[in-house]
Amino acid sequence: MPKRKRKLQNTPASDAVGEDEILLRATAPLQLCYYGNPALRKRAKPLAEITEAERQLADQMLETLYNTGNGIGLAATQVGILKRLIIIHIGEDDDETCEPLVLFNPEILSVEGEVVAEEGCLSIPNVTAEVRRPEKVVVDGMDIRGEPIHIEADGLLARVLQHEIDHLNGVLFIDRISGLKRQLLKDDLLWIQQAERPA
Ligand code: ZN
Repeated sequence: MPKRKRKLQNTPASDAVGEDEILLRATAPLQLCYYGNPALRKRAKPLAEITEAERQLADQMLETLYNTGNGIGLAATQVGILKRLIIIHIGEDDDETCEPLVLFNPEILSVEGEVVAEEGCLSIPNVTAEVRRPEKVVVDGMDIRGEPIHIEADGLLARVLQHEIDHLNGVLFIDRISGLKRQLLKDDLLWIQQAERPA
């Protein structure tokens, strides 16, 4: 999920890599999947254990997120990897202490309240909509060391958690708006779907 009202930057393609694929380029950003890519509609699989490969993937996803210049959250399905992993970094300029959150197998245990706020998505560039969601969430998962992690969130973190966990289930924020509103975005969505994107 991107920050609001910041200009999007294109993700440069990664440098050429050897046959040992992504595991050897821990610092290279991954290619984002855009609306229309089937990976965004797939359900990601839970991880039985967190190995070095998963930790490297998390690092690469953080790199990918930072590379967007405006992202605050990313799910593995958005880089075409069907593992239940999300990363979130809501660090504002005045909030340097905010650490990135890496969450494996995130699961929403309970929700409370309801709030409407504007959302966007790195996979659906330049499209935003008001989305109604629960205001508070309780989420369990595993951190980068494989240790259990328990989060009680409200505000922006609650929203980003829900948005990213939706991604792991093949759900996009535009699925959570009315058909009428989605109709208004039709041309923008079609453009993204048809635009030429690097493979
Ligand atoms: Zn998104």
